[in-house]
Amino acid sequence: MRLKAFTIAILLLATTISPAQAAPNYVFPIVGCEYTYPRAHHSYPATDVFTDAGCRYVAVTSGVIDEVNRIDSWSGKTNLGIDRGGLYVSFIGDDGVRYYASHLKSIPKSIQPGVAVKVGRFLGKVGTSGSARGTKPHIHFGLSWSTPPQTWWVRRGMVWPWKYLDAWKDGKDRSPAKEVEAKRVKSGDLPPEPVNEKRK
Ligand SMILES: [Zn+2]
Repeated sequence: MRLKAFTIAILLLATTISPAQAAPNYVFPIVGCEYTYPRAHHSYPATDVFTDAGCRYVAVTSGVIDEVNRIDSWSGKTNLGIDRGGLYVSFIGDDGVRYYASHLKSIPKSIQPGVAVKVGRFLGKVGTSGSARGTKPHIHFGLSWSTPPQTWWVRRGMVWPWKYLDAWKDGKDRSPAKEVEAKRVKSGDLPPEPVNEKRK
């Protein structure tokens, strides 16, 4: 009898702790600052989230850090696709989606490939690195799937993020996982690198 009561107590406790009070699965990527983001983006699906330089960019969900670049090699003369992001961080969410943000000003030392991060973890400060030089500070935010390192043309974004940003802004959990997976199936794991892509 005592054991039964104990089991019931545990079950009640488990029910009390589950989803309603659990940490959110998704949060908006900018915290502590005002921001705006248009519904459009040049050339391919991604969202530029405009805010002030130095504002905090955080992990929208929990996952593991994928690629990190702390050196700005971009030049307006070459405008190489691989350099456009400037300082960036990508991570693979527990939902399987790769989240990418670029044009950062700085990235904490602790953010290294392979490091597990929880939702809301500080990943960098907003800036104007890479091809954002001379523009209003923003993060370029892209959703894609895991590819070999330096696959910049997939990493930069494959599906439109703004509707997910809308949900996260409103405190709703909305996962891009299904849409990203559908796009991966349609495009193939590794679409070819664009040749002579002009910047628009
Ligand atoms: Zn962009």
